[in-house]
Amino acid sequence: MKFRIPSPKPLASSGILLPPNNKTATTRITSNSGSPIVSSILKRRLRRAGGLQWDLFERGNNQVFRADTLAQLGWLTHGFGTRLSKNWPSSNGLAFVKQVHSDRVLRVESDGPQGQGDAMISNLPGIALAIKTADCLPILMADPKSRAVAAIHAGWRGVVSKIAPKTVQALTREFGTRPEELVVAIGPGIGACCFEVGPEVAIQFGLAGRTKVDLAATVCQQLGRNGVPAGQMSVSGLCSYCDSQLFESYRRDREGAGRMIAMIGVVGAL
Ligand SMILES: [Zn+2]
Repeated sequence: MKFRIPSPKPLASSGILLPPNNKTATTRITSNSGSPIVSSILKRRLRRAGGLQWDLFERGNNQVFRADTLAQLGWLTHGFGTRLSKNWPSSNGLAFVKQVHSDRVLRVESDGPQGQGDAMISNLPGIALAIKTADCLPILMADPKSRAVAAIHAGWRGVVSKIAPKTVQALTREFGTRPEELVVAIGPGIGACCFEVGPEVAIQFGLAGRTKVDLAATVCQQLGRNGVPAGQMSVSGLCSYCDSQLFESYRRDREGAGRMIAMIGVVGAL
């Protein structure tokens, strides 16, 4: 299958992020210990003021999506599970929170339940920070310098309360992370295509009337204002509501919706 390889261009760091568009799906063969694996690659273009960027998410074994930018960091493990990801991730070393649509960031020192909150940060090997979503955005972060990681659950309430920039601030406070070094990946969640809100929610995004809201773009704008370079943020552009084969969606399936897991952790023994 033939596809165009775009030439990356530098981005204006203050560039406005527009919704992902121009989705194309293709396949490539990779070799893993001699056996060929067909994995699908989703290429998408993010149109921004000042340039174009292509971000890559790859669907690998067990229908788990991984961001190329995070996959390049050998000291961590990560993934965005789908509704088809069975028995993934393994339960060993998982840390999780009771998610309450807050802006609360917890520093994780052990695996298991961490209490109420919607973001976790850690630099301890052997612990995987896991969050559950069905339309809300799973956001994973890694600081290659301090080798600290973060996992965030962000629905519209979390986005409005700026949970993503607050997580960056917590990483800085706890681990000395510099925002300009941070690598960020935003996995599958409800897209602007399907997230129509009423006036009472719209106004919290600076919008008016019944309108569509782009949560991922809003998060990127918030992070950009907090010093994370646009070129270090990857957005899957995959809408949980649109694809009922792959993704859980609360808005679509209501009480029948399951949850998808996204996780990130520093490799090693606890
Ligand atoms: Zn959609």
